Order: sequence, then C-alpha cells, then structure tokens
Amino acid sequence: MAELEGLEFGKSDFVLLDEVNMEQFMENLKLRFEKARIYTFIGEVVVSVNPYKQMDIYGKEAIDAYRGRELYENPPHLYAVADAAYKAMKRRAKDTCIVISGESGAGKTEASKYIMQYIAAITNPSQRAEVESVKNVLLKSNCVLEAFGNAKTNRNDNSSRFGKYMDINFNFNGDPTGGHINNYLLEKVRILRGGSEEMLGSLHLQNDPVNYVYTREGAASTFYNTRIMNCVSATPQGNLQFETDSESVQVVGSEAVSHIAGLTTTEPDNVTKSLLYRTVATGGGEVIEKGHTEKEACFGRDAFAKALYERLFCWIVARINAVIEVKDYNPVLHGKNTVIGVLDIYGFEIFDNNSFEQFCINYCNEKLQQLFIELILRQEQDEYQREGITWQHIDYFNNQIIVDLVEQPHKGIISVLDEACLTVGKVTDTICLESMDAKLRQHPHYTSRKLTPSDKTMEFHRDFRIRHYAGDVTYSVEGFLDKNKDPLFQDFKRLMYNSSNPVLKEMWPDGQLSITEVTKRPLTAATLFKNSIVALVDKLGCKEPYYVRCIKPNEMKSPVLFDDARCQHQVAYLGLLENVRVRRAGFAYRQPYARFLQRYKMTCEYTWPNHLMETDREAVEAIVTQHGFQDDVAYGHTKLFVRTPRSLFTLEQERAALI
Ligand code: ADP
Ligand code: MG
Repeated sequence: MAELEGLEFGKSDFVLLDEVNMEQFMENLKLRFEKARIYTFIGEVVVSVNPYKQMDIYGKEAIDAYRGRELYENPPHLYAVADAAYKAMKRRAKDTCIVISGESGAGKTEASKYIMQYIAAITNPSQRAEVESVKNVLLKSNCVLEAFGNAKTNRNDNSSRFGKYMDINFNFNGDPTGGHINNYLLEKVRILRGGSEEMLGSLHLQNDPVNYVYTREGAASTFYNTRIMNCVSATPQGNLQFETDSESVQVVGSEAVSHIAGLTTTEPDNVTKSLLYRTVATGGGEVIEKGHTEKEACFGRDAFAKALYERLFCWIVARINAVIEVKDYNPVLHGKNTVIGVLDIYGFEIFDNNSFEQFCINYCNEKLQQLFIELILRQEQDEYQREGITWQHIDYFNNQIIVDLVEQPHKGIISVLDEACLTVGKVTDTICLESMDAKLRQHPHYTSRKLTPSDKTMEFHRDFRIRHYAGDVTYSVEGFLDKNKDPLFQDFKRLMYNSSNPVLKEMWPDGQLSITEVTKRPLTAATLFKNSIVALVDKLGCKEPYYVRCIKPNEMKSPVLFDDARCQHQVAYLGLLENVRVRRAGFAYRQPYARFLQRYKMTCEYTWPNHLMETDREAVEAIVTQHGFQDDVAYGHTKLFVRTPRSLFTLEQERAALI
C-alpha cells in the first residue's frame, strides 16, 4: 500500500487512485508496466502484468525482504501475498488459499511456481531432511504436470490446458508435510492438434515406446514419456483415415492400426473392430454388432484419442497424489494440520467464437466471483465485528442470478443441455437452443439472437448470449451437444481393458462392463464439470482467500508492448474496478496501532521520538488529529481503520520527506 517508491512509478495500490474509473486505472497500470513495476495491489489483491522478460525480483534478497513482513511494508509482490497467506496459516492456524486467475498466457502458472518457491524457501529453517524431501517432491510434481498438461498453442508457448488446484499441508511447525492435486477440465480438443508431424515422425523411430510411456521413475524421463503419450493420443487422428468401399467402411492402410495395437499392447484385429463397429443392445436384450458410417468412425476415433489422453493425465495426477499425500500424520501427536491451497485457473475467456469450453470456464469464473463476494465481504464483516467497528453496507453486484442461470436444477442451461442429451432420437444443437430459449427467455441475463427483435429476419440462430458479471459473451451452440455428451463407444473401453499392459488396464476399469451393464445415463461433461467446480468452491469456501489477478500485456509476447485495448478488456473481465470499489467502500486500510505508530511517529511532534501517552491508540489518535483526518478513520480494539487512501498517502509523503 505504501508509496514506497514515489510517484514516478505510478501508484502501488489502485485504491490510491484519485478516482476509481477505467481511465485512471489503465493509466496507472500502463505506467507501472513501462517502469517495470509488474505488480500492483488492490488492497490485499495483487494485480500482475506478464513482463515477458526475466525479472531480477525473485532472488534470496527479495525473499528475505518479504518474509514475515506486513503487506504494506514492501512494494507489491507475489511474495507479499504468499507471506500473508502463510502467516495467517501459521499464526492463526487458518486454512488459506491463493486464487490465481487470468487468461491464457497471463502468467498464472509462473506465479504459482514463484509462490510455491517462496513457501519452500521460508519453511523448514532447520533443514530437516524429511521436510526437505517433501518440499522437493511438491516442487517437482508441478514440473511433471506442466510437462504433460501443457500444449504449445498460438497464444502461449507453454500453456497449461487444465485448471489445477494444489493443497499444501503443513504441520504445527508450519513445515510442509505433503499435498494433493486436483485437475479441472483438461482441454482435450486441443490435444488432437497437438502432435506435430515432426513429433509423430520421431515416434515411429521408437522401438518400443510403451516401455517408456509407463516407466514410473524420474521427473526428467517423465517429460520424455509425456511427449510420447501426447503423440499416442494424437496418432489415431493424425495417421488414421477411413474410406467407404461398396457400402462398408474400412481403415486406410494397416500400419496405423498395427501402430496403435503396438502402443497399447492390444491385438490389431481388435483395434480394427473397435474402430469400425460398435456393440449395441437391442430392445429385446439381444446384443448385436453394428457397423459405423464413415462419419461415426471418425467421431469414435477422435473420442478415443481424447479419452486416452484424459485417462492418462488423470492417472498421472493420481500417481503424483499417491507420492505427495501426507503420510503417518497423527493429529493428536502432531497438532492441527493446516492447508494452503493454490488455484491456477483461467479467467473469463471471450474469443471471437465461444463454444462449450468457454461456457464451462466462464461459469467457473462466475462461481469464483460469487465466492469472492461472499468471502471478502464476510471477511470484512467479521473483522469489523471483531474490532467493534460499525458495519458499513457495501453496494455491489451479486452475480448469484447468473450462477443460477447456468446451474439451477430443472431450469438452468446445464439442465436443459443435459435433457437434450438424454432425449432419445435426433436432437440437434439448434433444437436444444430452442428449448433453452423457451425456458430462459425471461431471464434478464439470457438472450438469443432469435429473441432479439432486430434479428427477426434471421432464419438460423445458433447463438445465445449470457450477460456475465464481467460482460456479455455470445456462445455458438454448435457442437454443444456432442461435447456435453462426450460419448466414447464401450468397445474402445473394452479394448483398453483387455490390453496386456497392466497399467493401461488399470486406467479403464469400466471396460469390463458388458454393453447390457453399461449405464444408459452417464453424467454429461457439463454436469461432471459443474460437480467438480461445486466441490472446489466448497473447498475454497472454508479458507481465507488471497488473490492474484494476471494480465497479459500483448499478444506478441513482447516485454515492451502494452496493448491498451487488450489490457482494458482483461481489467474489465477480471472485475478489477469493482474490486477497487468494494475495497474503498469500507475501510480500505487497517493497521495495528503499534505498527502504525512505528511507521508514522516521526510525522508528529507528540510522538517523536517517543510518546508519553498511556496507550499506542492514544498516540495514533494524536497523529491522526494533527494531520486533520479524524473524520476518515475509525478506531478498533487493536487496529486503526482508514477509509480512503488519501490520508495514508499524505502520511507516506511526509514520512518520505523526513527520511
Ligand atoms: P498462464 O499459466 O497464465 O497461461 P504462464 O504462467 O505459463 O501463463 O506464462 C506464459 C509465459 O509468460 C511464460 O512461459 C513466461 O515466458 C512468461 N512469464 C509469465 N510470468 C512471468 C514472470 N513473472 N517473469 C518472466 N516471464 C514470465
Ligand atoms: Mg498456465
């Protein structure tokens, strides 16, 4: 918070802006980026702009500067937030979490790594071997997941195509004892485009890649393995084509099939069969084999490739969890086990063409915003109560209504989607959209093109729009149903279950079911995602939250370019202005009396060098009164509460002039 560096670097806290509006916000953000000040606070929230160059601000010196200090004593930094989360955990035995959000390439994963490194650096001062080894495993597990879950996309060279939540467990000493990782919505679709020709080519040079794929030891070799498995999942599409001759569908060439059979240790004949036929149960309970059309065969192949990748990823996460989970923890002996959770997840995504994936991720962000509102406001309320300060009502937009629009049972978008997916017979995306329109036309945050009067003439309508808290997003409904159903023919599952590779078999336990045993109504992708996000929000909800908001300054990965329009877009979608407003509506700042005094006593004749009053609080009152901002503060039991940043800013300037 403090203006430690002077104004030429802009304001180190957006709460200090003269006025809260987009123009001033952007001006400050840009100025700081240009001065290589990539972090700025909004109260306790850190806003970060990806510098796209190595910064010399993460070394041992920085770690020492932030360790154990208060937020406002140092310039804004990830370490300040990491330390605040750690302190709350250690001193007050609170579970805390750090939520890192922003778009692809904004710097989320880098931030999560710096935070983990910081925590690793400040814990276990006595260098106990078993703790060191836990820390080591936790840090390395991150690399393994990165290696496997990432894809080079045009937006980010090293983009994590999944959301990741990692719990780090601590013992009563505040030393790490283990952790747990949850992953969300791996973007399988992109994997299909992931394997380059070159990689596929090199794959053929491997004698027996499966031996590499399933080796269990070593992070370094894992990186190699995962590349191979990327190829495995890409292979079915890349190398496998179908053709239709005299009404039956065939695989083009036999190498592709034997290649897959080799990689998965299955019989080539069985591979071919799974690719061309599906087993179905007739109404009379008879089991028959039905040949695919060419289109169905392609669809099956793609679904297979995606599922292969997804299951392998989940398997790796489960393996990592088995290694890092807390072992031999006895709460009676060891005291309370506290947690810091680190969430690395995309922020709002708004592209030219938004589909099912954006719908899911934006829903997730609505949920996180809801949590933010609840937690921040609740936290504020609790603090005011604790300190005996009259509660100030804060006016804010409550986005629960949008959350309901998406997730409400029977009425919400997901429910309508699921209904359409479960309907027997031909249901198209457009028909699904019609039923969404019918159910939701009255909803203030929902419109579709058909419902918009100016578009009456349109024959097709394939879009619907949600008025998200962060702005309007138009979704193209095309492909929604297929993506939501995410069906994989049972035949592929059986094929994998019958692999002679035990690990592969382990990944496909549902492959042992016969077609008549298979549940007819598997959970849809949207519902599975919803359930995982609800569980995540529950997990976060009982923790004290800290936030890092990441911004990508430009699309060219340039360290000098600040693309105003792009940045403003992100500031809007991250809800940062709202954030500043909420922060300023109550008391923006609070400091324990002793600390306030320590910092500002030199600015007042009655307190310098020492005060003669009975309590620190009285001394603080003297400082406040001398500077004439008594109307801007409230006195709590242990802390001074300051409403606007103006007062502190004045004090900071005066202090700076004196030292
Ligand atoms: P995200 O996880 O949000 O998609 P990443 O964290 O992977 O984005 O960051 C993308 C790239 O931007 C990184 O590979 C790195 O080159 C650069 N980058 C991000 N944060 C920093 C930073 N603090 N310092 C230097 N480079 C960074
Ligand atoms: Mg990432």
